[in-house]
Amino acid sequence: MGPLLAIFPHPDDETFTSAGTMAAAAARGVPVAVISATRGEAGESSIPGLDDPQRLGEVREQELRDAMSHLGVSDVRFLGYRDSGMPGSPEAQHPHAFVRTTVDEAATRLVAPVRKLRPQTIITFGPEGMYGHPDHLHMHHVVLRAVALAADPAVASGEPAEPWQTAALYFGTFPREEMLDILDRPGSPLAFLPPEARETVGTPLADITHVVDITPWSEAKRAAIAAHVTQTGDGGPLQHIPDEAIERQLRREYFVRSALPWSADEREDDDLVARLAAESTRG
Ligand SMILES: [Zn+2]
Repeated sequence: MGPLLAIFPHPDDETFTSAGTMAAAAARGVPVAVISATRGEAGESSIPGLDDPQRLGEVREQELRDAMSHLGVSDVRFLGYRDSGMPGSPEAQHPHAFVRTTVDEAATRLVAPVRKLRPQTIITFGPEGMYGHPDHLHMHHVVLRAVALAADPAVASGEPAEPWQTAALYFGTFPREEMLDILDRPGSPLAFLPPEARETVGTPLADITHVVDITPWSEAKRAAIAAHVTQTGDGGPLQHIPDEAIERQLRREYFVRSALPWSADEREDDDLVARLAAESTRG
């Protein structure tokens, strides 16, 4: 099976959506790479010693590398943008904020790595951005555009790399039904969401195309989640995710396969996610 490339906006997005799938790929000898658009500079942490906002990006870069090491993944890259923060955050005004770049500009930055890595499968966020974070939504459009640009022979990437058609594109998501259940718990990490977000968080189970049983890699994923200390440690913004929600995260990963113009005839089970999902249903 060809390489797997995960492209997400902040360190920890890749872990929650697809750590088990990445670990499964690495265990099969499939090359796995992760590209993070930002270093998660706005992911406020109040953990003593890790609470310096000036250093947060640097710390989270290392956390991402540590998290990936638990999965057997060592190819970790950064696009060099800055975390735009939650909606309305002053971080979005920073000149390097990811949301301030155009889709075309950021997508163009991805062309060279995509052409070099030649991924068979790319995983990123879907159009709902899991819970609508502005960087998550932007990432979705940037990756769609990057996949198209990388395949276009008319686009020069400034590198001696041939155009590349990614065979399979998947959106990592979580069932809306389960996210609403988390949202309603006291102290929920999603409590900041406005009431109308209930209509758009995650993906209805009926629309999820592939479910991967990751229980063989649940301990690797648990270690990867814990490696994002500034976020998931005591004092981090995600410290209150209910245990039950974490346990669900450690059992299954959920994807929506996106159609690509050149892969309409591709056999469904030809890529890594489809194969893992098929093996999961066979038990
Ligand atoms: Zn994120």
